[in-house]
Parts: sequence; C-alpha cells; structure tokens
Amino acid sequence: MRRGEKRWKDLRVYIHVIGAFFVFLLLCLSAFFGAVKKSIEQNVRQTITTNIDRQSAAFSSDITIQYQYLEGFAGYLGEIGELCSENVMTLMRKVCEKSDLERIAIIAPDGTAHYSSGEVKNVAERDYFKRAMKGERCLSDPLESVVDGETRVILCVPIYHAGEVAGVLGGSYDVGALSHMLFEDIYGGAGYSLIVTADGEIVAYDGSEKYRRIQLDDNVFSYYAQMTFLEGDTFEMMRDGFANRISGSVKLGRDGDFRYLSYAPIDANDWMMCYIVPEKIVEAPYRTITRYEAILMGMVLFGMAALLAYVFCMMLKRQKELEQAAQVDGLTGVLNKQSTEMAIDGWLQEAHQKKQVFLMLDVDKFKEINDRYGHAAGDAALRQVGQTLLRLFRENDIVGRIGGDEFVVLMKEVNSIRDAELKAEALCVLFRSLHPEGCPDEVHLSCSIGLAEVPEHGGCSYMELYQKADRALYEAKHRGRNRWVRHRMEDTEEKKEREAF
Ligand code: GH3
Ligand code: MG
Repeated sequence: MRRGEKRWKDLRVYIHVIGAFFVFLLLCLSAFFGAVKKSIEQNVRQTITTNIDRQSAAFSSDITIQYQYLEGFAGYLGEIGELCSENVMTLMRKVCEKSDLERIAIIAPDGTAHYSSGEVKNVAERDYFKRAMKGERCLSDPLESVVDGETRVILCVPIYHAGEVAGVLGGSYDVGALSHMLFEDIYGGAGYSLIVTADGEIVAYDGSEKYRRIQLDDNVFSYYAQMTFLEGDTFEMMRDGFANRISGSVKLGRDGDFRYLSYAPIDANDWMMCYIVPEKIVEAPYRTITRYEAILMGMVLFGMAALLAYVFCMMLKRQKELEQAAQVDGLTGVLNKQSTEMAIDGWLQEAHQKKQVFLMLDVDKFKEINDRYGHAAGDAALRQVGQTLLRLFRENDIVGRIGGDEFVVLMKEVNSIRDAELKAEALCVLFRSLHPEGCPDEVHLSCSIGLAEVPEHGGCSYMELYQKADRALYEAKHRGRNRWVRHRMEDTEEKKEREAF
C-alpha cells in the first residue's frame, strides 16, 4: 500500500471514531436541550395557568362582594318595606357613591326601575329582572358594549319583604375595568384579557392594544381556529376546555408570532376568562438558560473542532516520524541504502548553483574488529562512524550507509573541490582518534575514501557517482588505505592522490 493511501486509511479510522463520538455527544446534547425545553414549557404553562386561576378566583370573589353589597342594601329595603320613597332614593345614591357599581336601580315588581342617576325605565321584559323576581341572584349578559372594553353587566338580587319577593335591586358593573385591574400587573402589562361566553362571544376585553388584534364582535373560536396550534395543542382542546369549564392553556399563532392563551372559568354565568400573552414575554425569564445552552453548544463545537485539528496534527506528526524512521538505518542513525539513493538522485535532478561532491567511505580492515573483538564491538564501531559523519558534515548534506562498513556522503553546494578534499582529510584524521567500545585502547579505526564530483553541467546520477567514487576508493585501498583518492574526470590514469599523513 502506498504511503498516501495508508495515511488516508488511518485518517478515515480516526474520523470514524471521532465522528461516532461526536454523534453520540450531539445526541446527548439534543436530549438534554429537549428536556430543558420541555421543562421550560411546562413551567411556562404552570405559571400562566396558575395566573389565570388566581385571576378568575379574584374576579369571582369580586362579583360575590358586589352581590353581597347589593344583598345587604336589599335586606335593609325589605325590612323598611319602602322601595321608592324620597329617603330611599337619597340613600340609594349614597350607597352607589360608596360602591364600585356605576348605577343602582330599585325595580318595582311591575318592572319600573328607579336609577340612582334619577332616570326611571321599565325593565319588565329583561331576563335578569324576571330571574331575580323568582328569587335568584343573577348577572345579565353584557347590556351595552362600549368602546375600549367598557362593557356593563347588571347584577340583580331580589328584595324580600314578609317572605315574598317585593322587588329587585340591580347594579351596573364595568367588567372590562375589572379585568383590566386584574391583569395589569402581570408580565408588565403585556398581552390582553378577554371575558368570553361559552359560545365564544366576547363580553369584554382589556389590555395592551399593541398585542390585541381581536375585536369585540369577533367570535373567539372562529378567530383562533385560523391559527396554528403548537406543542401538541389543538383547537379542540381549547373548545373542550370551554365546554367543560376547566382551565388550561394552548400555544398558538401564525407567521412566527406565537402566543400562549390561558383560559379559566369564572363564577359569572357560563363565562370564561382568557389571557393571551406573547410567547417571548412569557419565556423571557428562561432566556438566560437558552443563552447558556447556545454558549455550551458553541463550546462543544469549538472543542470538537479543536480535538479534530489536534488529532489530525498528531496523526500527521506520527506519520512523519514513522516515515523518517523507515528511512533511517537502525544501527548507525544515518540514512539507509534505499533512502540514500533516493535522496541523492532527488537532489541531483534539481539545478544547483555550486558544486556537489560525493564521498564514498569504507572502514579499513573492519572484518578484523569483528573477528577479534566480536560483532558487538563491530556494531559499536559502525555506530561511532555514523555519529561522526553526522557531526562532521552539514545538516543538509546527505549521509547514508549503503553496505556493511560502507558509507556515502553527498556534500551539497561546496565552494570548491578543495573544500571537499580538506573535509576528506579531516575525516581520515578524525577516524584515527576513534576508539570503538569493546576494543582495547590501542585499537584505532581508519578509513579509505573515494571522492567524485558532479560535473559542471550536472546531469549525473547516483549510480554514476557511485561507480566513480568506488573506483577512487579501490585506488585508496590499493595504495595502502587510511587515505582519500579523488576521481579525476578528464583522465582516470592521472588520479590526484593525497596522503592523509
Ligand atoms: P577493507 O579494508 O578492504 O575494507 O577490509 P574489510 O575487513 O573492512 O573488508 P570489508 O569492507 O569487505 O568488510 C566489511 C565487513 O563488515 C564484512 C562484514 O563481516 C562486516 N559487516 C557488515 N555488516 C555488519 C554489521 O552490521 N555489523 C558488524 N559488526 N559487521 C558488519
Ligand atoms: Mg572495509
């Protein structure tokens, strides 16, 4: 398998493992975020349902107070047995001033109503009068719809005299104002409230115009039926809630504008109270959580990217190390035969400004070290040779071991052949000072070196240089070893020879 393919295969394994881990992490995070979202929704619904229940209880108790107020006065009227005297009218006006009722009327059994405002009307045909005459406490449907939620209802209680219903006491009441009073402190006044009949007719509304589009003559059911219901809520749920007079909430809206609608029965006819508030306002207290979620998600993604980048870099580094290790001769630390050839050929193919010189070095009588002092001593000597060569030549020169005790060096970009000759001479001197481990002190190494230079015009291969340097090396050995010989290009017969000593 080629190196590139292997690297890609390794990378694919890493990517699969990390990818599987990331998918798992993302699944965990989405499960966590889903649970948080659900919990927020439950809290929101809990809050708005509790609110509407409280407000409905407050509304009902307020209506009850008005009934009790009227019943107290009706009891007094029954006791004195007078309904329309001047004293009673004066008293009625005083009672009205002190109450939350807008007007009070004392209605005679024939339906003649005397209002605290001084008006006199006949209400004999009104349903609320008929019901009160039967002895019932009752609340009329909205009688007049006034702009801005000023919708009035009549609360009626019977006036008993001598155990008989002797008339009716009624009071008109602005339900819109009441609902306004109830809701203005919730969510900073955002949203709006409705008082609705069981059929969805609006009795009164109140709240911010900014959020309210529904009009007094709209039917709540037909209006909201056009909306999209979210989070598993349905229009039918809301309708059933109204029909069964139970409180609840739905999330609905359209075009990205969503609201919570909570509803609860009130203790007045078959009416329901609704409160509609924008999703953003209700969920605002939980926004910090979603912000932290976004931060967490960002951090996880960043961590994932950083981990991927780290693994990728580590893999490349490891790959490089492995490749380098594969090129190096394990014993001496210089390049192995194949890498030496490749590196030198690669270098020679490029164009260069200066001279390149090839040195071929063979340890003299190396077999004797092996034979006399053992293979381990021979190995130690070769290791020393490798380290000496690496130390002596420049870092970018190519140093390799091409055989048992045979080494080559390509000196790159030398100023003149003389520099290479001086280096070869220095090498011979240096060799004489080497004491291989495991050999007695008097044992010294020596080497023979063959030099070959790359022709001026270049175009020389490793093999050509090898052959030339090999001939020069042979000559050095032949002439008694411990010396260098330079291969002369123009005339192989006239080799320039120099002794190291
Ligand atoms: P010459 O001066 O003519 O070079 O004589 P020589 O004894 O050095 O002969 P030659 O260069 O042919 O011998 C090289 C020897 O190096 C042959 C082999 O036994 C030994 N050799 C080859 N590889 C290794 C190695 O990895 N470790 C050791 N200890 N010896 C090796
Ligand atoms: Mg040798």
